[in-house]
Amino acid sequence: MSDALSRPLDLPAWPQFDDAERAGLLRALDQGQWWRMGGSEVDSFESEFADHHGAPHALAVTNGTHALELALQVLGVEPGSEVIVPAFTFISSSQAAQRLGAVAVPVDVDLDTYCIDVEATSAAVTSKTAAIMPVHMAGQMSDMDALAKLSADSGVPLLQDAAHAHGARWRGKRVGELGSVAAFSFQNGKLMTAGEGGAVTFPDAELHEMAFLRHSCGRPRTDRLYKHRVAGSNFRINEFSASVLRAQLARLDDQIETREARSKVLSGLLADVPGVEPQGRDERCDRMSHYMAMFRIPGATEERRNAVVDALVARGVPAFTGFRAVYRCDAFWETSAPAESVEAIAQRCPNSETLHAECVWLHHRTLLGTEDQMHTVAEIISDVVASS
Ligand SMILES: *Cc1c(COP(=O)(O)O)cnc(C)c1O
Repeated sequence: MSDALSRPLDLPAWPQFDDAERAGLLRALDQGQWWRMGGSEVDSFESEFADHHGAPHALAVTNGTHALELALQVLGVEPGSEVIVPAFTFISSSQAAQRLGAVAVPVDVDLDTYCIDVEATSAAVTSKTAAIMPVHMAGQMSDMDALAKLSADSGVPLLQDAAHAHGARWRGKRVGELGSVAAFSFQNGKLMTAGEGGAVTFPDAELHEMAFLRHSCGRPRTDRLYKHRVAGSNFRINEFSASVLRAQLARLDDQIETREARSKVLSGLLADVPGVEPQGRDERCDRMSHYMAMFRIPGATEERRNAVVDALVARGVPAFTGFRAVYRCDAFWETSAPAESVEAIAQRCPNSETLHAECVWLHHRTLLGTEDQMHTVAEIISDVVASS
């Protein structure tokens, strides 16, 4: 064992915070009004977040799952609609559609980028398709050129699930500059966080206005007469969360720069490790936010992959098993499931099946470590994979 391997790994903690978050929380507290209608933190955060992502409008909400649900609703998804989602993603992508009574239609992903396969997406479009939801996996942007063309040709709107893609870019364009609605998460593990939280960015004012109404029980901002204009729910974020998110946003770009630099080192090293295949990079994604450092173990069974994750955790590496294919979760079949068997979906989603069994991911705090630590992490992975 080398010297580096005998020392505890001691990677940076997550979330990171300092006096900026402390000051924000006190600022929110001292307003004496802690909901968005009484204070200014949510309004300020929304305009800062929109600016940062090149979007004309942003709405902050309770969490990323609600962000997706609200976005789908304002895009016209309703009971009986179909929403195309990648099969390999966190379950919120499909659950958001199903909560609206829409059928979630899983399609396969690309085995290099782990993002939605455009040909499979195109083949899945029917007269009932009301939205296509690309997920920018780990901050690797989906092929937004091909998807924008598919959307224009088919007339089906895109909803970017950008829960991993704060600050990411596609050919120089930020998420909010790509002409479609995007949903973000600020859950504890995400790239900026207030423990929970979410946001939706909009390319136009009308969608934003409708989303505002629906996220606040259908009530206009200045209403005092209980004139609830449209159906909705309460997805409002509070002033404390927004104050923390303003501080987190200010730190995002520096952290992405560090992750980009460390990821180059780590994935370069992992590419040379026998039995390990790191997630690929579509270079048109010229700024990747790196929500996770992902790789797969080609040929591994689910059982062996799980053993690798356990061994990595035992050695101090914050490793996790990749997502289950959504159609392999019981939750997927409870409501609004497609009229297809698991086997039939699995057959047309071979790459999602592969990732379901072989994928491992490391928490993005790994990529906030030092360059030396990237060498240690790669050595540990090499050791563990060779001996598991
Ligand atoms: C985290 C996540 C969500 C949901 O966000 P929450 O804030 O946890 O509700 C949605 N989609 C993807 C891909 C995610 O990783």
